[in-house]
Amino acid sequence: MIESFQYPRKGPGMMWDAAAAKTRAQGGEIHMDHTMDSLSYDEELKLWTIEVKTGDGEMKTFQARHVISSAPVRELVHSIPTSQEATEAADKLRYRDFLTVALVVQKPDLFPDNWIYIHEPSVKVGRVQNFRSWSPEMVPNPEQSCLGLEYFCFEGDGLWAADDSELMALAKKELAEIGLAKEEDVKDGCVVRQKKAYPVYDDNYKENVETIRADLADKYPTLHLVGRNGMHKYNNQDHAMMTSMLTVKNIIAGETLYDIWNVNEDAEYHEAGSTDSLEALKSVRLVPQRVQSDDTQETEEPTRKAG
Ligand SMILES: Cc1cc2nc3c(=O)[nH]c(=O)nc-3n(C[C@H](O)[C@H](O)[C@H](O)COP(=O)(O)OP(=O)(O)OC[C@H]3O[C@@H](n4cnc5c(N)ncnc54)[C@H](O)[C@@H]3O)c2cc1C
Repeated sequence: MIESFQYPRKGPGMMWDAAAAKTRAQGGEIHMDHTMDSLSYDEELKLWTIEVKTGDGEMKTFQARHVISSAPVRELVHSIPTSQEATEAADKLRYRDFLTVALVVQKPDLFPDNWIYIHEPSVKVGRVQNFRSWSPEMVPNPEQSCLGLEYFCFEGDGLWAADDSELMALAKKELAEIGLAKEEDVKDGCVVRQKKAYPVYDDNYKENVETIRADLADKYPTLHLVGRNGMHKYNNQDHAMMTSMLTVKNIIAGETLYDIWNVNEDAEYHEAGSTDSLEALKSVRLVPQRVQSDDTQETEEPTRKAG
């Protein structure tokens, strides 16, 4: 659908390295490998206390007037006192997990696509990434390709629990079966498991999210939910970032200028003030859609639609 696009030479991580460098240059602190353990709010002092555990098992305490959380909302709710209704709603939120088997293949140009969706019912792989096609610098050896075979699964199911060696063997076999490379050309590989890769939209997720939102907003107006699992919303990176950026604007303004729950919705963004970020808020993409004109002739007219 898209003929060309811009992509960071060594992958999207470059953006976050740049963001981290800018944050530090402005005096911000980033604490990697720290897991939030508990949150508590002092109503009188209007102050949050956040307890975290470092990778070495050390406990640390931070204090803040506002907390912005992109942690999965199901987990967050268990860190703070909420109503029983909200806790039950959070426990009903579900996630789809995901793993990638990256295979290094001794061939430089296997196919031109950056990814291929696999519909063949005899294999379990759902999508294949071709990292060299995203950017040649993603694969340092010019004689080799790196393919990421993606498997959609649930934490604890057969695929998730399989050994890395079993998954590598499965991926190699399936790669050959769909005809993208020969098993003997695969020289190396590794497995990456990603918990909670996708928030599940089941029949009741909206209602459950609304119950949690209402309870948290009522009890803790200075606790802000952002991002993908943080809002249990199927956001892309741009949407996830936008929810955080707008939250910061709201905090600085001391009022809700932007309704971040409208990011990644068809509806126009609710905007009370007038700022230069108005255009950026409309992050939904323009796509042509067939419409019926007055004289019943079909015309193509661009319309805003969520990406
Ligand atoms: C397979 C796949 C492909 C995708 N492809 C694209 C794509 O092509 N383009 C695109 O725009 N988007 C893509 N996305 C979506 C994109 O990855 C997400 O929208 C984005 O990462 C969401 O950002 P976030 O900050 O909300 O959450 P995350 O990136 O998940 O960040 C949340 C962070 O919170 C941390 N955390 C959680 N709990 C705690 C805790 N208790 N204490 C401390 N830290 C905690 C996590 O470790 C994590 O680092 C893809 C997603 C998947 C799964």
